[in-house]
Amino acid sequence: MKKIKLIYNSGAGQSKFRYFLDPIIEKFMQNDFEVSVFRAGNKTNLYEYLKDSDKEDLYGIVVAGGDGTINRVVNVMMKNQIKTPLGIIPAGTSNDFARHIKMPNNFSECVDKILTKNIQPIDVGLVNDKYFINVCSAGLFTNTSIRADKKLKNTFGKASYFITGAKELFKFRPFSVKIETETDIMIEKINLFLIFNGSSVGGIDKFTDNSSIQDGLLDIMIVKNCSFHEVGILAGKIFAGNTLEDENIIYLKEKWIKISRLKGKCDNPDVDGDFGPQFPLEVKCIEKGLNLFL
Ligand SMILES: [Mg+2]
Repeated sequence: MKKIKLIYNSGAGQSKFRYFLDPIIEKFMQNDFEVSVFRAGNKTNLYEYLKDSDKEDLYGIVVAGGDGTINRVVNVMMKNQIKTPLGIIPAGTSNDFARHIKMPNNFSECVDKILTKNIQPIDVGLVNDKYFINVCSAGLFTNTSIRADKKLKNTFGKASYFITGAKELFKFRPFSVKIETETDIMIEKINLFLIFNGSSVGGIDKFTDNSSIQDGLLDIMIVKNCSFHEVGILAGKIFAGNTLEDENIIYLKEKWIKISRLKGKCDNPDVDGDFGPQFPLEVKCIEKGLNLFL
């Protein structure tokens, strides 16, 4: 019998997935799988559950949750060099990464996809000692998913991010950074930066057409300090998919980048929807670090 480890976050995405748990297990079992289930809450020991997965002859590790839950699983897998393929069922409030890899919204169809066994190696980002699968960002709007009140999140889902983001706009001040790449050093006053592996960030599906989770490079978008008016124009361009043509944008593709904060306040970066490490940030692309069911 083939074996699967299924991890689900019972609190993610308005707690919807728990009602689908039984039919998902049933479907795997009908296809001759033995399923072990782990309920990932806040204080559960995911590390203990996953650490020996590589030695257990598993078909895959399947995670049902949002970007944050996937990130926690990926961190344990990367730190323990677990090469077991990872399957993703998008069951969170924010499912940016699942959308990027085109996992269906229907949980049962996700199982179908995982059963086809299309496994491919993909890149993973590393910022200081924390891995990310989707995005590492800091500055204006970038912490809204963390700041959004849990009650607000459960009632309004994604709209809670816009409510929280709008409040933030009026309090925000730009900050200065030193940006080092393998070939360049820049000092800039900025509003925010995004370093992404896929192309879906903050619910916007396509920042660029040419980002890939298999090119060994991270895409970096830096928004320079600009006026409210220019932020408005820029937002319009982002929604129209022309983000990179703006003079306030610095766009890079790198294997390695270091960002040091020089002046001004900025919270720790958001890493896949959770607070990440402190500045300075050394960010690397770990090429083909993870095997994924696509
Ligand atoms: Mg890439």
